[in-house]
Amino acid sequence: MNPAPQKKDHGAGLSTAFEVCLVNMPYADIVCPSIALGLLQARLHSDSIGCKTFYPNLHFADRIGMKFYGMIGWRMHQDFMFADWSFGRGVFPDNPEKDARYARRMAELIASSSIIPFETTRTTTDIEGVVAAIYELRDHADAFVEECAVRILSRDPKIVGCTSSLEQHLPSIALLKRIRELSPDTVTVIGGANCEGIMGEAAHRNFPWIDYSVSGEADTIITPLFRSILEHGRNVPAESLPDVVLSPRQRSYSGRSAPWGVCKNLDELPFPDYRDYFEEIEKSGFNGYIKPSVVLESSRGCWWAARRKCTFCGLNNPEAGYRSKSPERFLEEVDRLGEAYDTPRFIMVDNIMDMGYFKTVLPSLQSPASDRRFFFETKGNLNREQVRAFKEAGVHWIQPGIESLHPDTLKLMNKGISVGQIIQLMKWAREYGVRMIWLFLWGFPGEKDSWYEEISRWVPLIEHLEPPKYNLFRIHIQRHSHYFDNPRQYDMDLGIMNAMPYVYQLGKDDLHDLSYRFLPRGWKDNFVDPDLDEMEGRDGMKKLESVISKWQERFEGETTPVLAVRDNGVHIDVEDTRRIAEAPCVQLSGDLRRVYLLCDKNIKKQLLVQTYEETFNRKCAESKMGELIAELEAQKLVLEVDDRFIALGVHGDNPKPVSFSEFPGATLDVERLQADGLFEKMGFIKD
Ligand code: SF4
Repeated sequence: MNPAPQKKDHGAGLSTAFEVCLVNMPYADIVCPSIALGLLQARLHSDSIGCKTFYPNLHFADRIGMKFYGMIGWRMHQDFMFADWSFGRGVFPDNPEKDARYARRMAELIASSSIIPFETTRTTTDIEGVVAAIYELRDHADAFVEECAVRILSRDPKIVGCTSSLEQHLPSIALLKRIRELSPDTVTVIGGANCEGIMGEAAHRNFPWIDYSVSGEADTIITPLFRSILEHGRNVPAESLPDVVLSPRQRSYSGRSAPWGVCKNLDELPFPDYRDYFEEIEKSGFNGYIKPSVVLESSRGCWWAARRKCTFCGLNNPEAGYRSKSPERFLEEVDRLGEAYDTPRFIMVDNIMDMGYFKTVLPSLQSPASDRRFFFETKGNLNREQVRAFKEAGVHWIQPGIESLHPDTLKLMNKGISVGQIIQLMKWAREYGVRMIWLFLWGFPGEKDSWYEEISRWVPLIEHLEPPKYNLFRIHIQRHSHYFDNPRQYDMDLGIMNAMPYVYQLGKDDLHDLSYRFLPRGWKDNFVDPDLDEMEGRDGMKKLESVISKWQERFEGETTPVLAVRDNGVHIDVEDTRRIAEAPCVQLSGDLRRVYLLCDKNIKKQLLVQTYEETFNRKCAESKMGELIAELEAQKLVLEVDDRFIALGVHGDNPKPVSFSEFPGATLDVERLQADGLFEKMGFIKD
């Protein structure tokens, strides 16, 4: 049922005849294989259908240089669809006027650099030079599609299937078009997140060289579908087609969202087969620069969304529900894949870990001698024991859904977590040496600028705790999200992204159906005005942005600040190296110590006196308690937020957080690529 991968053999033992070629096009992340394709390949192999997976993304990144590959695949795509546009000439006829306008706009954005996070801080006035580089990128893309198609067809596959997620859509569609032109008998298939529901139907009806489009999870239908295609080609009888697949006979507008495929029992999935990925790494320019890890999933869907989905979140089939692998199955997979790919590093692609794993999986992963390291996404309302369990099981990196530090914003987004819980989690993560990746989002309908100003006032108190990975990040309105489904409730009139008509030469309705992201009319957009200050008139946000930058600098700097508390049962010694520290060392004793310990539990304001009296069997007048709290607040040791008092110190030594080079997911040695002159191959911005 679950064929295990062989020990890493770089493809040895694979047949050279492949009925099926699966393809992972740019601009997919290069440091890890596609789990979707790894699973499909394993399934097809176990069902005796010859399959090879190609990773052209690796070779394109090598061709243009990782610096620009990463830049294009990030915000340049999300807001401006640059990744799609770069491959658009292979799909649409030339439109010199529109292309010139688009290229110039992108050049202005690239040149200003302010909208491109973490890639460059340089700016240039050489707009014409950047425009020329943008066209050069398109030339690279054209030639690359041709090379890929020839390379794939040299294996004479009967079926070529692309996975298409995020910024892979036009690169995949362009490749399938060229495959069709060069080999009219080859059957083409597309699937992935870009093809879910109505988006897949729109791609299928507008790009007639795509024979079959699969909506949702393909794991359970891939073998019967491909067997039918191998037998009937483009003429698979309608009764043999799963309802999540569109065939060449179904290109009309249905007006309804196609159903999504769902794998109900994840234990029935095979172990993903990544041999082709590792073989391609060796052939690419990244050989020796990537520290690999194994990509795994322990669950699909989101159990929180099943109760109350976060308002901004467009992830997951609303009807599929949450599914997780049995502990036995998951643990076996960790053992087998770790051994097969010879790595102790594992990155989970789940949206949210099964909380039951704290009792089942994590205890089994605990072993002081083990060097295994894991990354999990998790809900943010963890308790201290759960954070400790993560640490002991080797889960040294987590992504808890935090996304804001204001109680009203957390409520607006249905996050189901409070500011107090977030700060507690941050404290325990620092105490146990668990690193966190979290984003700070803004742009929620109904939010107030004053909320950001409020946060900016107290953020300096927590500069010893993990800051957000990037600075403030504006939300998009995503298809399938609560905002998308209920725009009137938020007074939003949703339109397509302004860049969309420049990238896809299609009619208005088709553009809408293809889109995953939407822009409410009236929202500011750098594509319309590259010099636009997105935060104009938002002084609170600007202030917070500046405070967060300093927080990140301090936390990642040479000496990460500490606010260490050590309680010996009589007094608490406090060591404080935050910039706002009142004193480097403080001792709390008597009532101050007692009240601090209650605040260490994130206590409700109105319960403080009562809890004090019950816990310590002593009376305390409200006025006296007020004085004690005022004293702790004056020392910057306690924060009042959301009607609670939260002590901020971290118990113990406050170990320095491990560096990002220890991240359990695969990493790219950028410094060595730079030193070897391989990072920046195209000159978008010339010195
Ligand atoms: S943002 Fe995360 S927790 Fe919220 S609904 Fe989406 S997947 Fe679930």
